[in-house]
Amino acid sequence: MRPFQFERARTIEDAARLTAGDGAKAIAGGTNLLDLMKLQVETPGELVDVNRIGFAGIDDTDDGGLRIGALATNTATAVHARVRADYPVLSRAILAGATQQLRNKATTGGNLLQRTRCYYFTNIDQPCNKRDPGSGCGALDGIARLHAILGTSSQCIATYPGDMAVALSALDADVEIAGEGGRSRTVPVRDFHCLPGDTPWIENVLERGEVITAVTLPKPVGGTQIYRKVRERSSYAFALVSVAAVIEVADGKFARADLAFGGLAHKPWHDPRIADLLVGSAPSAELFDRAADLLLEGAQGYGENDFKIPLARRTMHAVLSQATETAE
Ligand code: SF4
Repeated sequence: MRPFQFERARTIEDAARLTAGDGAKAIAGGTNLLDLMKLQVETPGELVDVNRIGFAGIDDTDDGGLRIGALATNTATAVHARVRADYPVLSRAILAGATQQLRNKATTGGNLLQRTRCYYFTNIDQPCNKRDPGSGCGALDGIARLHAILGTSSQCIATYPGDMAVALSALDADVEIAGEGGRSRTVPVRDFHCLPGDTPWIENVLERGEVITAVTLPKPVGGTQIYRKVRERSSYAFALVSVAAVIEVADGKFARADLAFGGLAHKPWHDPRIADLLVGSAPSAELFDRAADLLLEGAQGYGENDFKIPLARRTMHAVLSQATETAE
């Protein structure tokens, strides 16, 4: 690990100012950042501890939704009574990720900002356009079992590794962001992460000198909520494919069908055409196949991860079958 300066922010204004400089990084739980610093993948000149700025609360919003502070731990969120009752897909997604010890330290904001686990990204002896722009992409002709099949580019085929954000995408949550001078903005979580394109090192829309302050969930919609994660082993493994689903069936037809997918792309994948297709139609195997056709339009495998294309189809099919059987 390289030497670095350490600063402690006590207010949002502090955090925004201190992280505005080149080479400064905010740290909360540090469950991803510290690992990357030990590997010298991340080499910040300055670490800004944001743990004292006090955004760990989980509170009801005026419109019946829920506001989860950026510093709320994953454990606190997963076991929160309202999350379990009204947004169970979020609780299940969080509990499907990492280990209890990691969830005790990992925060809402940090979880959104976690970086890919691509083997070439975490090995500084290997080419990686994300870590070292212009050096190439080792995964394109290399080990790509965990890698993306949707929204890839010739520069990067990495996946976003998290579970929580996949559920937040299905729930259509918003990310609250604050910056210097009292500036603030809200970004739908579906628009928060970026596809790699020609700039794979840009992973989200957070700008220098901005910090995440909270995630807000809309008023609960009910229905059946499912998080299914397919992985190499039953715990402490990243998703090969995951599906977060919020499904409602009324009078034998889909009244709601909000789905998001993990393990498939550089961001939690949400395709609004799937809900457009499903809502108003009666569940059937043929309809599920057409929904999977939409999901996988343009999907491309890179050898080792070719299996993800049929796996995503089957997983989506299984989730829709389970959700509609439960709802009927
Ligand atoms: Fe780097 Fe992306 Fe290629 Fe992995 S897939 S080596 S993160 S550029």
